[in-house]
Amino acid sequence: MSKTCSGLSLTLRCREISSSMLDYLDGSLPPEEMLMISEHMRLCPDCACFKATYVATTDLCAKAFSRALTDTQREQLCTKLREALRTA
Ligand SMILES: [Zn+2]
Repeated sequence: MSKTCSGLSLTLRCREISSSMLDYLDGSLPPEEMLMISEHMRLCPDCACFKATYVATTDLCAKAFSRALTDTQREQLCTKLREALRTA
């Protein structure tokens, strides 16, 4: 059973959303893309749930590493998270 949003008229698919989630939460995407993603999540419970889980996870990581996380380390952590999400 595939989990796509084919029933909805969405520009971005769930997989693209999940791979852009970090940039979305970072606010580093173009405004129209930010809008598309938030609109998608409004219509797609799967992605809304994914975002909630993602926020909780990154929040935990941020707390765990809040002592002395350099930009480089943060970037490495982000890269690892991205990879983990892509292969999920
Ligand atoms: Zn979705």
